[in-house]
Amino acid sequence: MPSEFDIIHRYFTRPAPSAVLGVGDDAALIKPASGMELAISTDMLVAGQHFFADADPCKLGYKSLAVNLSDMAAMGARPRWATLSLALPKPMVRTDEKWLKAFAEGFFGLAHTHQVDLVGGDTTCGPLTISVTILGEVAKGKALRRSGAKPGDDIWISGHLGDAALALAHEQQRIVLKPDEIAECLPALYTPMARVGLGQRLIGLAASAIDVSDGLLADLGHILKSSNVAAIIKMNDIRCSASMKQYLPQALAIECLLAGGDDYELCFTAPRSRRKKIEALSRDQEIALTRIGRIREGEGLLVLDAAGNTVTLETKGYDHFRV
Ligand code: ADP
Ligand code: MG
Repeated sequence: MPSEFDIIHRYFTRPAPSAVLGVGDDAALIKPASGMELAISTDMLVAGQHFFADADPCKLGYKSLAVNLSDMAAMGARPRWATLSLALPKPMVRTDEKWLKAFAEGFFGLAHTHQVDLVGGDTTCGPLTISVTILGEVAKGKALRRSGAKPGDDIWISGHLGDAALALAHEQQRIVLKPDEIAECLPALYTPMARVGLGQRLIGLAASAIDVSDGLLADLGHILKSSNVAAIIKMNDIRCSASMKQYLPQALAIECLLAGGDDYELCFTAPRSRRKKIEALSRDQEIALTRIGRIREGEGLLVLDAAGNTVTLETKGYDHFRV
């Protein structure tokens, strides 16, 4: 069976040209460019909680980085460095180095795409848990925050929502998707696309931003709370896939659209005066950017359906301590 150090050496030690010092010492050394602030974020994925224990290791490696890249996107930061902490069950290491190889492949594949260097981490034995910390750079004072929304701002969403939650409902046998729907929705769940380029381009355009990881209502709710404002959104203005359209307005589909997790799209607000620039950015990035509502003074989030009736949901989003 490989030792902790064999694992680190074999699978997680790669050149880190953007760091002063990478894996192998007691700490990594990095040097942010001058005039930049460091944006730091951690996300932990626990087997049985965030993914099925038998999940495809390559996709898991990809996703464990992708969810962190999404946090950088939401801040408008450029991701640069990452650390990776792994708790691995003994039997998995003993019998199956294939798992480690595939996991590393998925992780480094996406890291390479975004020029992110793995500079450190920790490897230990325990129930399968993956924790990635990402460090990014953003120009001093320019990061997109949750607290910048102002009454009158438009509310925008990138891409479309709900497919990952629909795919999860299928995997949990709460719904049975057809093969073409599975093909459309499953990638959203297992290989989400973090909006890294878009996030950086939103600096100077967006007043506030968040990534939709726990469900639109919950995450937009965070913007409202941080900004001390209210909002009204129209459910029918939210872009969704052809598969999702097949199931709306069933309750489960509405729940996936409004409160499903794992979308990793960006929700941001911007003054009306920026509409033209945001539409141009959408064309330039080839990412749909859709206005779904408006920030108002006050408190609370009002969701209207096509007929103008209020939509109410039992749960607003994913909360680990409430499920
Ligand atoms: P320490 O005992 O000082 O915590 P470790 O033996 O845990 O050091 O780690 C040795 C080196 O390997 C460190 O540079 C650490 O950052 C790195 N490392 C450990 N686990 C991982 C991992 N899963 N991915 C990347 N680097 C790792
Ligand atoms: Mg250690």
